[in-house]
Amino acid sequence: MFDVPLGRLVPDYIKRFEAYIPSKPDPELMKLYNVGHLWRLNNNENPLGPPEGSARIIEGFPPPRASIYPSGDSYYLRARLAEMFGLDPDQIIFGNGANEAIAFVIKAFCQEGDNIITADRTFAVYEWVAEFSGFEARLVPLKDFGFDDEGMLARIDERTKVLFVCNPNNPTGTYWDEPRLRRFLDAIAGRQIVVVDEAYCEFVEAPDYPDAMRLLKEYPNLVTFRTFSKMYGLAGLRIGYLAGGRDVVDVIRRTCIVYSVNTVAQDAALAAIGDNEHVLRTRRHVKDEKAYLLRELGGLGLETQAGEGCYVMVKLPLSDTLAYRQLMAKGVMIRTMTGFRFPNWIRVSVGVHEAMEAFVEGLAGILRERGTI
Ligand SMILES: *Cc1c(COP(=O)(O)O)cnc(C)c1O
Repeated sequence: MFDVPLGRLVPDYIKRFEAYIPSKPDPELMKLYNVGHLWRLNNNENPLGPPEGSARIIEGFPPPRASIYPSGDSYYLRARLAEMFGLDPDQIIFGNGANEAIAFVIKAFCQEGDNIITADRTFAVYEWVAEFSGFEARLVPLKDFGFDDEGMLARIDERTKVLFVCNPNNPTGTYWDEPRLRRFLDAIAGRQIVVVDEAYCEFVEAPDYPDAMRLLKEYPNLVTFRTFSKMYGLAGLRIGYLAGGRDVVDVIRRTCIVYSVNTVAQDAALAAIGDNEHVLRTRRHVKDEKAYLLRELGGLGLETQAGEGCYVMVKLPLSDTLAYRQLMAKGVMIRTMTGFRFPNWIRVSVGVHEAMEAFVEGLAGILRERGTI
């Protein structure tokens, strides 16, 4: 047997990096926690599922097409979205989830010694991709649960390449309105790439929320992310995209893997576009259930943080990892927030009403057993 000299082979930034461990499949978790049913409220998935048109595509997918490679650049999808947003199809790149688009952007612009800037308590993948690729992630503390524009601008130096703004923010639900986003983009004046991650834009009810797609014409350094995982209920098929100025996207395209978006995902996403009825139905559901959650959690005397988006944060009088295990034993899976640098907070996704009741009852039970209520 050979010894593999990992000490020499592995870059230091990989040695320092800890792999993300995804949760086990439901049947394994149900055995582990000895429960007959599990409500998954940890990933902000759409409890209403995909739009009807997408469901029909998935059901009717002809098996012979599985042996044929998909369109390598999601040709028809880009054409359809370009028409919808008034863009050129070449301003859009699809990825295996918007997650992959994060890697495309960082690879396209960062080299040794460069940095990216984002918030300390936001979607962690910007930070992770930067770090396991060997680049510094400068994390600016949230201010009043929101992205701190002044703080981010102050951290820019000549090695800063990309700034990531999650709008609305996962997990806090805060957002920048249009004047604030414009001021930020004006201050940067094209010197860096600004990514606005709009994974939850279709959920937003606030009228002053900026649609970054409409700003692309004015800001050639702006890149937006969108996904079919949340509102369109296609998380399992892995499909998302980025859009930006023509020149910037031409650079990003050099780093993307062709064929990373499969045929079913492309067809299902195409069928989802324009289903406004699905969007409105989902929004109504999220609005009602969020109101229910906030009312019930307030009744338990718990601090909550929610805004736009299909999730609510709750501050607990116990450790979030302990609460996770105790809720799992009651058949409810939430997201612990220690990893998001919110110790003792959890994030719960809006699910079907029955799941919301199971969560509230489960949590109330835990607090009662502890004598907290
Ligand atoms: C879920 C999510 C994404 C991307 O999800 P994909 O499934 O990879 O498309 C991107 N950004 C944020 C903030 C998210 O919550």
